[in-house]
Order: sequence, then structure tokens, then C-alpha cells
Amino acid sequence: MKTSISLYFHIPFCTKKCPYCHFYVIPNQQSFHALLDESFAKEWDLYLPLLEDKIITSIYFGGGTPSLFAPSGIKNILERIKKSQIELASSCEITLEANPEELEISLLHQLLEMGINRLSLGIQSLDDRSLQTLERTHSAKKAELAIFNANQTGFKNISIDLMYDIPDQTKASWDYTLSRIRSLPIQHLSLYNLTIEPHTSFFKRKNELQLPKPEESIQYLFSAIQTMKEMQWKRYEISAFCQEGYASHHNLGYWTYRPFLGFGPSAFSFWDNERYQNVANIQRYAKALKEKKSPVSFREKLTFPQNIKEELAVRLRLLDGIDLNFLSLLPKDTLNAMENLSNLGFLCKNNSRIYLSEKGLLFYDTVASEII
Ligand code: SF4
Repeated sequence: MKTSISLYFHIPFCTKKCPYCHFYVIPNQQSFHALLDESFAKEWDLYLPLLEDKIITSIYFGGGTPSLFAPSGIKNILERIKKSQIELASSCEITLEANPEELEISLLHQLLEMGINRLSLGIQSLDDRSLQTLERTHSAKKAELAIFNANQTGFKNISIDLMYDIPDQTKASWDYTLSRIRSLPIQHLSLYNLTIEPHTSFFKRKNELQLPKPEESIQYLFSAIQTMKEMQWKRYEISAFCQEGYASHHNLGYWTYRPFLGFGPSAFSFWDNERYQNVANIQRYAKALKEKKSPVSFREKLTFPQNIKEELAVRLRLLDGIDLNFLSLLPKDTLNAMENLSNLGFLCKNNSRIYLSEKGLLFYDTVASEII
């Protein structure tokens, strides 16, 4: 049987850098588009031999803002994959991340025609005040319109990102956002709390930011969980919710250790028990490929027992947890740590699986650090 794998393409263009963003992004310039397009072709040729006996389960265009590279850049990648005759699963999920402001109806039609079957929209909030704080370039009205347009064009698998713990956010503002999503034609939600990462604009002025207190933050999370329950959506991973049947194939791959290849500057790969990352600089990435060299700048071979501990921690993010058979792979100290975590109420067990308890879901970082 062929091994299922995933592909990730990092499109680093953004019209403006958001103050909380710690991803590798660059200005949206045409000269960079041409360079990235050429480099993707070279990188594809480099990795093609690895793919010949594999089946592609999911393709993900992330960033940055991949919709800025559409239609031609995205179409070229998809055509290259098709021409290479690597098998695509019949249910292959092909996701494109987009910001609401670029999603004109003509572009939506083109995306559907080229095979994109899932959109992931960076909505973040449906309250204009929060969007302004985040310095996003779309309004709440534009975000809702983009979702309705996408649905009417024919996209039946739409995910949105929402963020809480935004500076100056109030419970009323967050509840307003949650109330708006009830009527939207969406199938998936990725829920994040804002974290202030080093090397971001928010980090430089973190002392001036009025961030919600921890007890408020927990209330925001609980309100979101309650809304999802009322909408009869499933929480299938700590930060992911969906309508029945709409769990993200691609993200499930990350949580179940499916091998994936990442293309583009700064993209990560996980292949043959090795994790690696391309250089986070478009010129250096393109130069390496032009010189027929690898663009990888970081490589880490995962060896026992660290590999299995990390896999356990990642798999536990899924709400249905791990199969009890997985325990036979674990070293003694990890089994002891799991026993302790169960005694402290972070983990639950039934006849076949071990999974995070309500407390474990709230304090996942504690669980992960105990295991690793
Ligand atoms: S749009 Fe997304 S990727 Fe681009 S700067 Fe903002 S947060 Fe970062």
C-alpha cells in the first residue's frame, strides 16, 4: 500500500505585516512572485524522486497570504503536481489560506476551477475595533461578505481563524464575534489566543498593551466552546472545531505524524523521522536552488526516545487521544509521567484510549512539558 503524505507550500507575501505576526513574510512585489515561481519548479524537481511511491492526501497553501500569489502562481504549482503523475487521493484536500480583502468573485471562480476545494480565511474577529487593534486591512463587513461570496461561488468547505486575548478586547466584543459566526456558511474554526512573540511589533510595545487578564481569557475560551456546542460542532483538537465530517485532513496529518514536504522559504518538512526547515530568506532560498543545492538550513533527526515522546505529546492534542497500544512504545519514565498526570486529573482513560481531561485541555502545556 502506498504511504499517504501531505504537501505544504509557503507563500510569504503580505500587503502589510501585522503587529503580532512572527511568520516569515515579505512585501507583495511582482519580482518576488517570479522568483518564487521559478524556485518552486526547481524545488519540485529536487523532491520528485521521494514522491514516486506515495499518495498525496492533502495540499496546503499557507503563508503569508497565498491568495496574493493566485491565480497564476498557485495554478502553476497544481499543474506541475498533476503533470508529475504522483497519485492524488480521490478525497485530496487542497486548502488555500486567504485574507478577505483579496477574495473577489472572479478569483474565487478561478480558485475552484484550478482545484482548490477548501479555503482557510484569516478573519480573526468580526468586531471592527479588534480588527483595527490587530491592524488588519479588512473590516468585519468585508470578512462576512468574503465568506458568503465563497460559499455562493461553490466553496463548501470554509475554515476561519478567530483570535481572542486581543488588546482592549472586551467580553461584549468577543461575544459579538461569536454571535456573528452562527449565521455564516462555514464548516471549520481554528481558535487562537493572541501570544506576544519576540521580534514582533506588539512585543516591542508589550508594556503598553492592555491585554485581557487570565481569568478573562478563560471566559473567552469557555464562551467559544459553548457557542460551538450550541452550533453542534465538534471540538476535535485543542484549538480546532468543525461540523461533522469537516476535520482538516491536512492538520490531522500534523497531529498524527503523517510525513509532509514543505516547499518555499521557511517551510518545514517532516520526512523519514527527520524534521527540517528551508532557509527563511527568499533570495537565499532561490540562490540555493539555482545552484542545485538544498535550501534546507536546519535539520534534526528525531531519535528514540525523544521521537516517541514528542509524538505522544502531539497526538494528545486530538480530543480522542491515543490508542492504548501506543503505550507499549513508550519508555518507562514517560509511562510514569502519564501515570502521574492521570492521578492529577490531566488525563482520562477508557477501554481503548487515553485522552486529555477537561483540566488537561486547559493546561495542555503542563501535560506536554511533563511528557517531553
Ligand atoms: S496576514 Fe497573516 S501572515 Fe501576513 S502579516 Fe498578517 S498575520 Fe502574518
